[in-house]
Amino acid sequence: MSVAQTSRPVLGCIADDFTGATDLANMLVRAGMRTVQTIGVPQAGGEAIAADADAIVVALKSRTIAAADAVAQSLNALHWLRAQGCSRFFFKYCSTFDSTDAGNIGPVAEALMAELGTDFTLACPAFPENGRTIFRGHLFVGDVLLNASGMEHHPLTPMRDPNLVSVLARQSAGKVGLLRYDAIMRGAQAARDQAQQLRADGVKLAIADAISNDDLIVLGEAFADLPLLTGGSGLALGLPAQYRRAGLITAQGNAAQLPAVADSAIVLSGSCSRATNAQVAHWRASRPAFQVDPLALAEGKPVVVEALDFVHRHAGQTVLVYATSAPEQVAHVQKALGVERAGKLVEDALGRIARTLHADGVRRFVVAGGETSGAVVQALDVSALRIGPQIDPGVPWTATIDNDPVALALKSGNFGTVDFFEKALAQLAHATTEPVA
Ligand code: ADP
Repeated sequence: MSVAQTSRPVLGCIADDFTGATDLANMLVRAGMRTVQTIGVPQAGGEAIAADADAIVVALKSRTIAAADAVAQSLNALHWLRAQGCSRFFFKYCSTFDSTDAGNIGPVAEALMAELGTDFTLACPAFPENGRTIFRGHLFVGDVLLNASGMEHHPLTPMRDPNLVSVLARQSAGKVGLLRYDAIMRGAQAARDQAQQLRADGVKLAIADAISNDDLIVLGEAFADLPLLTGGSGLALGLPAQYRRAGLITAQGNAAQLPAVADSAIVLSGSCSRATNAQVAHWRASRPAFQVDPLALAEGKPVVVEALDFVHRHAGQTVLVYATSAPEQVAHVQKALGVERAGKLVEDALGRIARTLHADGVRRFVVAGGETSGAVVQALDVSALRIGPQIDPGVPWTATIDNDPVALALKSGNFGTVDFFEKALAQLAHATTEPVA
């Protein structure tokens, strides 16, 4: 991309976990914003990361840490995003409003508001495409209220109250109100008028009703000019069109375009979820695959060396290296090694394999498993990713931002169709048409 096209980002996002960040980034790219996701706040090289991006999403791991730490990390992210030139900000949390009475949604939102000098924002986790809707301030998951959705049993953030106005009020210092569907259904001006009324009543944070994408588009139209918005990825749906209308985004073309990367690819799977088991079986039926056995790893056998030998023997073909197993085998391994040790042995092995293959010239990595993806990203020392085209809902191709980019498709457990690995590899061949700088 030429220097003349370089522009600064408009939207700075702070996400409270990694997959939530990718979900938001994927949404922004689909709506035409060139988007970069960073893993934590970058230590250096911010200028390069932010160049030619319309939006930056900083992925934190702040959902369930102490509220004071979540506030500190989020403010740190805000300062960095401001330094990159962002003028609007978005605090992204889960569409099931995962939080406790101690936080962290209220405390983080209020700290960001104070720092930005703004006295009003929305809180809207609605994601109608995924069945998360809000009516009269109550969050529904599918056809049931939040507290009957299974979220009431969540080990870290049990959600036992479906009334988000009450939930947010318990974790906020300022007054919490409700932006009602009755206003939103009448369009952007009516929604703005009601917000004005709420503000006059002293409301700082307003839960916004939304039962369809149309409602989210209205909210975008009415509130895109607020310095801060907070919500799920759905609330971002209506923002790109407004930024474009306001002249804040001018770049044309395909927001999902990634730089070209070398052909050589590997598929690494440490997920034992049902969908991944089916994807691994589908691949093994016609393509080369090497199984990593956690028990052999625990015995100190040279599993990593054997895996790398296998890959080298199949030069010219893409190989799957997997620890993916059926539930009874996983249970057997976990009984022998303990859950944590088994997980760590596999993650370390796949991370080492990824690092060695990268040194050997492999530049395309398809990875299955949330924790496994974390291990691979860490092994490859990745700090920022440009978000590319969607492979399956919630899973885009991404590429690292440097002169020798690596393409990564990071799939958490139950995502993707049965031919996900093959589909991902075939898609990238068409997506990377731009020459490397
Ligand atoms: P998912 O997204 O499906 O939950 P993760 O990668 O987050 O996948 O988690 C899977 C965990 O299971 C990882 O810690 C991985 O190392 C571990 N694991 C993978 N294969 C096995 C196995 N055969 N036995 C025991 N644990 C395994």
